[in-house]
Amino acid sequence: RAHRPSGPHGAPPYLAGLNDEQRLAVEALDGPVLVLAGAGVGKTRVLTTRIAHLIATGRARPHEILAVTFTNKAAREMRERVAMFTGSTQGMPWLGTFHSIGVKMLRMHSELVGLRPNFTILDTDDQLRLMKQILQAENLDDKRWPARALASLIDSWKNRGLDPRHVPANESAGFAGGRGAALYEMYQTRLKALNAVDFGDLLLESLRLLREHGDILASFQRRFRCILVDEYQDTNVVQYLWLRLLARADGNLCCVGDDDQSIYGWRGADVDNILRFERDFPGAKVIRLERNYRSGGHILAVASGLIAHNQGRLGKTLFTDAPMGARPTVTGVWDSQEEARVVGDAIEQAQRAGVSLDDIAILVRASFQMREFEERFIALGLPYRVIGGPRFYERAEIRDALAYLRSVAEPDDDLAFERIYNQPKRGLGEATLATLHEYGRRTGVSLTRATRMLIETEELKARPRQILRDLLAGFDRWRKRAEQITHDELAQLVLEESGYIDMWKAERTPDAAGRLDNLKELVRSMGEFPDLGSFLEHVSLVMDVEGPSEGPRVSIMTLHGAKGLEFDVVFLPGWEEGLFPNQRSLDDNGRAGLEEERRLAYVGLTRARNEAKIYHAANRRVRGLWQTSLPSRFIGELPPDHTEFEETEGASAFGGYGVSRFDGAPAGFASRYDTPGWRRAEERSRHTAEQGARFGGGPGRVLEGQAQRRASPDAAFEAGARVFHLKFGPGSVVSADGPKLTVDFDRAGRKLVMGSFVTAEG
Ligand code: ATP
Ligand code: MG
Repeated sequence: RAHRPSGPHGAPPYLAGLNDEQRLAVEALDGPVLVLAGAGVGKTRVLTTRIAHLIATGRARPHEILAVTFTNKAAREMRERVAMFTGSTQGMPWLGTFHSIGVKMLRMHSELVGLRPNFTILDTDDQLRLMKQILQAENLDDKRWPARALASLIDSWKNRGLDPRHVPANESAGFAGGRGAALYEMYQTRLKALNAVDFGDLLLESLRLLREHGDILASFQRRFRCILVDEYQDTNVVQYLWLRLLARADGNLCCVGDDDQSIYGWRGADVDNILRFERDFPGAKVIRLERNYRSGGHILAVASGLIAHNQGRLGKTLFTDAPMGARPTVTGVWDSQEEARVVGDAIEQAQRAGVSLDDIAILVRASFQMREFEERFIALGLPYRVIGGPRFYERAEIRDALAYLRSVAEPDDDLAFERIYNQPKRGLGEATLATLHEYGRRTGVSLTRATRMLIETEELKARPRQILRDLLAGFDRWRKRAEQITHDELAQLVLEESGYIDMWKAERTPDAAGRLDNLKELVRSMGEFPDLGSFLEHVSLVMDVEGPSEGPRVSIMTLHGAKGLEFDVVFLPGWEEGLFPNQRSLDDNGRAGLEEERRLAYVGLTRARNEAKIYHAANRRVRGLWQTSLPSRFIGELPPDHTEFEETEGASAFGGYGVSRFDGAPAGFASRYDTPGWRRAEERSRHTAEQGARFGGGPGRVLEGQAQRRASPDAAFEAGARVFHLKFGPGSVVSADGPKLTVDFDRAGRKLVMGSFVTAEG
């Protein structure tokens, strides 16, 4: 079995390029192996080569190998490389993310965990709908106990491998008066009834499968002679428990990771897993790789210097034989708009120098930062892709907010009105919407207009009638306010008064926090346009842009999404206190939070092969108001000998703050508040606000619309006419007031209804 294909020097060709330690890691086939090493040293490469080696030496057949990667992209790359070694005849290893492997196991043995093989995997929306139903059935106020909060709680339990029976009482106590675990149990029961699982179940249920069925566990243990795990530092508890069951103590297990790149603590990842490896797998071989093959010398020095500020780390050295290359740059810019402009210019310059757009990435801390870049790239005609999420204007919360604004600007925009009429939940049902639609269709008026008429009658039940009356009153108020305040202030007002912002605030999940940031960014960005109309027009144009479907593109993604990837040129914008390190991380987790942010910065820097370019803006505008921002403390931690500091004219024109500010002395920052530049900034913002033309909708436009839209008037009926109403049955008309009829119904009594909802009888 153990034949070895040989290269020119006796070693098989796939081993040829490896250094000694890498080769050791690839060839150590007896007992557990941990490769614990910094960024860009070839950990992932070791894993792929090891798979090739296992197959080539006959240690394992492809289907006896289980390889876990962190992203689908990494899985794809590995699969391609393995296919090159093996051809298609021998079958393929199980190779994918934890989740995709979990699905595979569950499909094989679904009946053992109470599912049928064709079970469905719920997406977040379905999951929330289900939780809402449960909360409703339990008579729990979903404002006080939002479904999303329950979802996030259950998810955190699942991440820790806890089923309902094992949820600690004190944690269950925190939700709905101690009913957390009971609701979790109900939710699981409902899932089973639907023959469905959610994302967390893919791991939790497969863990349960292995725990409760020794024969199944034994068969998987026999099958997976070799297990390989990438990015081991980011495994959470349930993944860890699952692995420990599958990997026999003496087994052929190889995990690779870097404690300095553990960035998913907020999702339950536990860096201790990697630090505990030698205890969990006695006799494990721990291999350290120190030679970085990815980045230039200066980049590596800067990344190492930065991460050295963390205390909770093992500490390791990294070196490279590559030339020093370009120093990472830190550029101070005036504001985020200038930041996008400067980055756009730099990309075009790199492009001219021959760098492919595919080798360029922009890595942001928070997704709201993406918008400014997207807009700039659209203006420049620079192809880009957003990885790991929709483009800014396609995000659900942005679409909702835009729907409110479109509805304010154009009451007859039915699509917009329909999107938000029950968002946040006001207690309007499908039946109400159907009535509005029906009336609109019959009389050829828009939904808002139909609503306005129907709430004057008893066509709708009292409760929805009142809710709709309040909603319309809100819109009337906002249209009026539009004449007095700027359109970005208006947007803020609408989002607050409609309860939309509160809806997200109530959820208190990291996801909701990101959405709130996006909404802020939306309001902020509106200030760049003279009025609401031109802003909305801009958005529809931007949404319409379909970039070329093929060809190279710049990647825009979050730092979290960039793990394991590499690019020639990496742009790192928004290195400012509060944004990066992120204030929420600091508030919630103190020093641990700060260290996780610093690791994220380390991940960002080490993605770069040739150039790393950091930016910080002196001003970010939040809700139409300029706020000064201080450069991130991480900038002060970069080794100055390896870093180049610069400043655009925009940033320095207003009493800019020169390189000396990076000496880390907070006092140096304080003086900035007093410079004329800061006052000028305030003046400028006020000026922009005043100059912004007011939104010019108003009643005039409304009436005009009405005249055009009204297709057929409500039918006219004489007093005494016999009519029939679908809901109230037969009756006699008492009087008519325009489209409205007062009718004495034979059974339902006197009601005010719309003429178009009755037909003449007999
Ligand atoms: P990260 O920590 O970011 O996940 P990593 O340790 O997994 O990084 P790899 O992505 O495997 O590192 O390798 C980084 C780069 O170095 C890749 O481009 C890889 O092809 C290259 N590389 C790795 N080992 C060698 C080698 N022995 N000779 C030449 N290039 C190598
Ligand atoms: Mg890697």
